[in-house]
Amino acid sequence: MTGGRLRRLAVRRTDDDTPRERCDLCGDPVPAEHRHVLDLTVRELRCACRACQVLFDHTAAGGGHYRLVPRRRERVTGFTWAGVGAPVRTVFLVRDSESDRPVMYYPSPAGAVAGPAWDDPLLARVTPDVEALLLDRDHGAWIVPIDDCYRLVGMVRAHWHGLTGGPEAREQIARFFAELADLTEERSPA
Ligand SMILES: [Zn+2]
Ligand SMILES: [Zn+2]
Repeated sequence: MTGGRLRRLAVRRTDDDTPRERCDLCGDPVPAEHRHVLDLTVRELRCACRACQVLFDHTAAGGGHYRLVPRRRERVTGFTWAGVGAPVRTVFLVRDSESDRPVMYYPSPAGAVAGPAWDDPLLARVTPDVEALLLDRDHGAWIVPIDDCYRLVGMVRAHWHGLTGGPEAREQIARFFAELADLTEERSPA
């Protein structure tokens, strides 16, 4: 068994949602690994069973306040930190469809904190609201589903110490990106 697979199993058991979870839309049980829809009115994720996924996949273009979160994970090139003034090491940028503006978030002990964003050209490739451009000074630039960012924020939050997060928070971030690389390999065989 490869290290990658071991790590992936560990993720399923500890960091994902509990197996007893139910679909937030219809109440049916959902497996530990399931997809999410984003409730745009409150910017919160809702767990979705297979039937509800299909429903929201088809109605996504027709409006309503739910959006199915895509599964694309992609490493992107061409990003430089040169223009980024903020003293942050890990941020994610989201295109907000309502304001038609980019919003920057960074993990903190209080969860995701919003900050002033710049209109990065890479954001043109990111689906508004449900995907993010995730940037880390050590681990590069990625396009990820927004639920990955929520998961990262949760991991970091539980291990934050001091003003900057400390080594434990960085360790969680490194672990998250190792898992992300595994998942990316798995989903896009080259
Ligand atoms: Zn459902
Ligand atoms: Zn869930």
